[in-house]
Amino acid sequence: MHSHEQSKKEHKEAQNEEHISQNNAQRDLFVVKESEIHNKGVFAACDISKGTKIIEYVGEIISKKEGDDRADEQVEQNKQNPDNGAVYIFELDDEHDIDGNVEYNTAKWINHSCDPNCEIDITNGHIWIISKRDIKRGEELTYNYGYDFDEEENHVCKCGAANCVGFIVHEDSWPKLIELKERLEREKLEKEKNIDEKKE
Ligand SMILES: [Zn+2]
Repeated sequence: MHSHEQSKKEHKEAQNEEHISQNNAQRDLFVVKESEIHNKGVFAACDISKGTKIIEYVGEIISKKEGDDRADEQVEQNKQNPDNGAVYIFELDDEHDIDGNVEYNTAKWINHSCDPNCEIDITNGHIWIISKRDIKRGEELTYNYGYDFDEEENHVCKCGAANCVGFIVHEDSWPKLIELKERLEREKLEKEKNIDEKKE
């Protein structure tokens, strides 16, 4: 009896492990619901301490070439449907991308923020979303999508953070982006000035 119970318990534990790796997520840590930022979002279901592996970004592993093609396709589709603002291609390594646009990838619902509470950790071919600080129950989980600067016009940011730069781009590109915004603003002011001068 005991050994039976024991093996049943072990079996159950093995099943649990399989369950976690299959779902690639610690399901009790988060819930998916409507987000103020965009569409759906993922929210902390309990207090989460800094450095917790919360959820894995999963999907179809594809070549870089295929990833680039699909990213372009997803950007085009988003232009037709403004409610659907996301690109789900994630860089895995030098040779592979992951297309996370699949039903079983809960992490695809996590929104971008310019002041995120999570960050990405890629180890051994797995993309994990990890808390970069302590997170309170009910907070929306976010990370910086880290898009390239030259794509910035495709991805307006509405994260609402105090330091929001207005576009979804990698933090390394923020100085470049701020410079560009200032230049555009100056050009706009000069144009307005010219129009005013013509009027007079
Ligand atoms: Zn923002």
